[in-house]
Amino acid sequence: MQEHFQILIVGGGNAGLSFTSQLLRKKSDLKIGIIEPSEKHYYQPAWTLVGAGIYDINKTRRKEKDYIPKNSTWIIDAVTEFVPSENKVICQSGKEISYQYLVVSPGIQLDWDKIKGLKETLGKNKVSSNYSFEFAPKTWEFIENFKGGTAVFTNPSTPIKCGGAPHKIMYLACDYWRKKGILDKCDVHYISGGAGIFGVPEYAETLKKVLHKYKIQTHFGANVTAINGPTKTVEYETKATDEAIKQSLSTIDAACYSIATTNDNVETKKVSMQFDLCHTVPPQSAPDFIKKSPIADPNSPLGFVEVDKFTLQHSRFPNVFALGDCTNAPASKTGAAIRKQAPVVVANLLAVLEGKAPTEQYDGYSACPIPTEYGKLMLAEFDYDNKPKMTFPFDQAKPRWSMWILKTKILPWLYWNKILKGTA
Ligand SMILES: Cc1cc2nc3c(=O)[nH]c(=O)nc-3n(C[C@H](O)[C@H](O)[C@H](O)COP(=O)(O)OP(=O)(O)OC[C@H]3O[C@@H](n4cnc5c(N)ncnc54)[C@H](O)[C@@H]3O)c2cc1C
Repeated sequence: MQEHFQILIVGGGNAGLSFTSQLLRKKSDLKIGIIEPSEKHYYQPAWTLVGAGIYDINKTRRKEKDYIPKNSTWIIDAVTEFVPSENKVICQSGKEISYQYLVVSPGIQLDWDKIKGLKETLGKNKVSSNYSFEFAPKTWEFIENFKGGTAVFTNPSTPIKCGGAPHKIMYLACDYWRKKGILDKCDVHYISGGAGIFGVPEYAETLKKVLHKYKIQTHFGANVTAINGPTKTVEYETKATDEAIKQSLSTIDAACYSIATTNDNVETKKVSMQFDLCHTVPPQSAPDFIKKSPIADPNSPLGFVEVDKFTLQHSRFPNVFALGDCTNAPASKTGAAIRKQAPVVVANLLAVLEGKAPTEQYDGYSACPIPTEYGKLMLAEFDYDNKPKMTFPFDQAKPRWSMWILKTKILPWLYWNKILKGTA
């Protein structure tokens, strides 16, 4: 017999678990199933701290079973197909599961293959990435042992989870080398697909000063295409002239990232740069099983789930909602965004369940805690309009020790003890 759930959740990561916990707190008698293939749950925001040598990687991984909300059923399987016309999903095991309401939250896909040579060299040849449990510790090994030379930090031209992570680690590395007295021997480059260092002018001003302090050279509108470990070379494409780069860069959706638009009339050039250390971030897109499904946004080449950006209800299938990194809502993809999305989806799903229209709206809130040195951090908070939305009664564009404590001590505790349990 086909299994059936009143509410079926795809993905038990940050979004899936915090949503389910919050929903059950509002209505405990729902029949809820969570499809999640992984036995382990990861607190990814701490991987930046692991790469900076101040956090134990093993503390970022816990057992999924300890966080599956009581009164919900965990199905250890992976969805491979969505059939929204029949209100069902098909799993890797071949099992079909039907639902009354579907909530989609399987995160974002890391497209390591989109950078030629990257997979082969990750963790070797001084190439690392904080975007992986396996390789974040390598980042620290390479930073700690760096003796000077060219250090390259890359940021792709697609939306990514935590748009700040590609440069957070760069500031911490520079601060470490400054303290060690070797920063003068370091030639640091930031190669980014973005239009600028940050899309919110108030926070960008602070970061420009930080870039200047560490003498970091920036290359915006640049798309990294290959990393050759053995020859220690990074290759990127950019517009042929500086003027063309300026014209083709858009600041739309540039809260943390922005896409370097391709103008077919403008010639591009390939640039290659030698490095002695390279921290890289892969291009990202919706997981393939979403991309090829009817719930994907047909206008998004990256295949994100098509939702109304305010209600987070699917634009074509009213009994489907989505939250977290997998949606096409033009917000910055972070756990902080999920904290604001989850209550909206809970309220709107409960409204729909009672035959009413969704009323709650998500305003695009996201946050990016950016350490500018060891012991100081700027907590950038903003919304869909790239307007600051500061929580605290002080100027958050100023890096502070209190915000560093928030990121390094308070947020990890809140995540495991409150956020996943639906109480924060
Ligand atoms: C280096 C780094 C630094 C970051 N820093 C911050 C930060 O400082 N602040 C912040 O707020 N955010 C930060 N983030 C982003 C944050 O971790 C993500 O935005 C958040 O985890 C997204 O939650 P999610 O539930 O959408 O996806 P995830 O938490 O990634 O969970 C997705 C889940 O779906 C499951 N899944 C995958 N495929 C399937 C399938 N086929 N069927 C069923 N389930 C599936 C996965 O196993 C996983 O458990 C950072 C991320 C990284 C990598």
